[in-house]
Amino acid sequence: TNPVYTGLPTTIFEVMSRLAIEHKAINLGQGFPDVDGPEDVRRFAAEALLAGPNQYPPMMGVPELREAVAASNARFYGLDVDWKSEVLVTSGATEALSDIITALIEPGDEVVLIEPLYDCYLPLVRRAGGIPRLVRITPPEWKLDTAALEAAFSERTKAILINNPMNPAAKAFSREELAVIAELCVRHDAYAICDEVYEHILFDGRPHIPLMTLPGMRERAIRIGSAGKTFSLTGWKVGYVTAAPALLDPIAKAHQFTTFTTPPNLQKAVAFGLGKTDGYYGELSGALAAKRDRLSAGLTRLGFDVVPCGGTYFVTADVSSLGLVGGDVEICRQMTLEGGVTAVPVSAFYAGEAPSNFVRFCFSKRDEVLDAALDRLGAWL
Ligand code: PMP
Ligand code: GLN
Repeated sequence: TNPVYTGLPTTIFEVMSRLAIEHKAINLGQGFPDVDGPEDVRRFAAEALLAGPNQYPPMMGVPELREAVAASNARFYGLDVDWKSEVLVTSGATEALSDIITALIEPGDEVVLIEPLYDCYLPLVRRAGGIPRLVRITPPEWKLDTAALEAAFSERTKAILINNPMNPAAKAFSREELAVIAELCVRHDAYAICDEVYEHILFDGRPHIPLMTLPGMRERAIRIGSAGKTFSLTGWKVGYVTAAPALLDPIAKAHQFTTFTTPPNLQKAVAFGLGKTDGYYGELSGALAAKRDRLSAGLTRLGFDVVPCGGTYFVTADVSSLGLVGGDVEICRQMTLEGGVTAVPVSAFYAGEAPSNFVRFCFSKRDEVLDAALDRLGAWL
């Protein structure tokens, strides 16, 4: 028989969520909020759904959303973006990543990736025939080793793919680190695929710095955002890409053969949402910072060694001193089955050999859910 390609793994998020449901565990694994996003945004979508039209919107996205994305780029980062030629709407950041990699990466192209990495990066790069060049950063500082980064670039480098703020490391790259990345991109004539879905989930007054704003990067960087994160509407799958026309054009070509469009009513509601006041954005990160502190303090009391979190809605914790048996995969399984709480093993975010003593918790949950999870863990440990 003709062999079927079996190279794609099952995503860890599906594995752990399935296990959580099966065992009625509190799911702090897969990253999603347990309350829906702003009611006015949802109402806007509902009304747009009833008013219609409900037919294929323009391939690039509805003008309202593309204009709103361009306006956000100006408002938050001082970027001057032409909505007509530089903004594309996709069905989530995941589709954006797939389109970008399909458009840009040809067999033999090298792609620099920073480990630990978000789980779809490696399968997408490999399926496109790209060669991953991995640079590892390590907790608790997660500092970028600039010598290692420099060594990962070569004359075959097509792109670097960075996630800032970074899942699962919960790291925000410093301006100095971004400057090193920008300089290497310029020196090697490489592109930068910037997964910035957590751009509005940064804590302790840290500003988000898009790599696109650094010298030489306006024409090289491709910036990805997601309404899933910014409006706590992960099920909507509305994402957006900002890039110079010469880059956006081939990405849009990949998009037209992938999904072609995204539901028009959801796009219009997200356009409305992006116009929210600074108060909304401040409250999003403020509320999540309090949840970060709540879960981190609770885990610390239980003996977890919690790694500092500067952004995203994840904390990672070292489980070495808890006296548990097995690596992170087995520990997450036991924690679900016996402890009634699901986390994600951090080794899932590595290409090869990985540390096996870290687990990731999502804290975008109601306080009572975080407290119940901590109670369960306390009873189990
Ligand atoms: N990139 C990162 C780093 C993520 O954490 C996620 C998931 N939440 C995505 C991309 C995918 O985003 P979306 O749901 O918009 O496809
Ligand atoms: N981004 C989410 C996480 O890191 C999961 C998204 C998904 O399930 N594909 O948990």
